[in-house]
Amino acid sequence: MKNLKTEDREIADLIVGEEIRQREVLEMVPSENYTSPAVREAVGSILMDKYAEGLPGKRYYQGNRIIDEIENLAVARFKKLFGVPYINVQPYSGSPANSAVYFALLNPGEKIMGLALASGGHLTHGHPRVTFSGKYFSSVQYAVEDNGWIDYGKLEKLVAAEKPQIIVCGTTAYPRFLDFAKFSKIGHAVGAYVLADISHLAGLIIAGVHPSPVPFADIVMTTTHKTLRGPRGAVIMVTETGLRKDPELGEKIDKAVFPGLQGGPHENIIAGIAVCAKEASNPEFKKYGEQVVQNAKALAENLLSSGLELVSGGTDNHLMVIDLRKKKLLGNVAAAALEEAGIVTNKNAVPGDPLPPFYASGIRLGTPAITSRGMKEGEMKIISRWVGEVINFLVPYPDLAVVQTKESRSAYSQKALDGIKFNRRLKEISGEVKNLCQKFPVN
Ligand SMILES: *Cc1c(COP(=O)(O)O)cnc(C)c1O
Repeated sequence: MKNLKTEDREIADLIVGEEIRQREVLEMVPSENYTSPAVREAVGSILMDKYAEGLPGKRYYQGNRIIDEIENLAVARFKKLFGVPYINVQPYSGSPANSAVYFALLNPGEKIMGLALASGGHLTHGHPRVTFSGKYFSSVQYAVEDNGWIDYGKLEKLVAAEKPQIIVCGTTAYPRFLDFAKFSKIGHAVGAYVLADISHLAGLIIAGVHPSPVPFADIVMTTTHKTLRGPRGAVIMVTETGLRKDPELGEKIDKAVFPGLQGGPHENIIAGIAVCAKEASNPEFKKYGEQVVQNAKALAENLLSSGLELVSGGTDNHLMVIDLRKKKLLGNVAAAALEEAGIVTNKNAVPGDPLPPFYASGIRLGTPAITSRGMKEGEMKIISRWVGEVINFLVPYPDLAVVQTKESRSAYSQKALDGIKFNRRLKEISGEVKNLCQKFPVN
């Protein structure tokens, strides 16, 4: 960063600081990963200087001969990787990509059905109050059962009664396999479009450790920066099933992305997406995906045996959610304590959570990033011991009533947060974490 250091020391120093942080902690937010230096070089390249509104061969600006070749490569590689006939690689990220799908397929006020946020769905899956997806469209959401699992029989009844125009199957915090065949059967029975949002699962699907939605869903959306390990971005794929239903589905999606929602595509990111697709088609990526799941299973087993409770009792994929209700702990406090110990996760709602999302009764954690560093089952055992120790070290709230009302919850939370700041044992663990991390350098 020699130019940046001369030009803007402040930002350069902050980037170095963040780089050190990323190396010295266990990044266990399940939606994060470490990109390769090759991906970062593509994203940081002069490609960011070019405007290329439109699609390859049909641009609104001159000078796109090479940009077209790059975007065509991204398209071809992704089509091959997922086995899909149609794709748009231009969405800026996952939320704009979901917006584009809705705007392509629905009129204002038509009905979306997605998994509720508290059940592990994404905000853009029709959250009724805080996103466009629930305000501009009408939204009916489904939920997981108290045991953390989706009940497909119930879902079928709800879909039959509500008849949504689109049903979204995709999750950010669901630790179990998604049955895309069932989702599609249920959705297609009422003539709904089926959107599989595989943002979290794409890398696992490529590696063959999670079933693929491609044979079943009409549209498949994924972010590129989670288990897929590419740059921040997203792609929208149309399947054979989708094209059979509507041969113009692909063009509708293209038009919704541009000019419907976006202006110039970020071609530097698209180049990074092409590099990511090449990396994901290597045999090593399959091994990576397998290890991500093996690590998650090992972590879950060890957490369970240290006395912690997991939503749904374990995991089939790359993530798990610790249920803190019986421990009487706030998710935000547990997450802060874990960070103090060098373990970076996020607070997360559990099914039937009595607390608002800012506090939450769960911790979501996963293995994609630490597996990219080369960690295996042995390390999971060590990590789960630390997680168990940190959580058991926290002082439970006396009873639910104390944290159910706004003022006393805030007061209790502040006191608990003050209690973990500069705590000696947590600092000690963060030192041990740092030692472990040094054995697994980030590339
Ligand atoms: C991450 C995620 C998104 C949104 O992606 P952003 O890039 O953060 O906008 C959408 N859907 C699901 C299921 C996700 O996990």
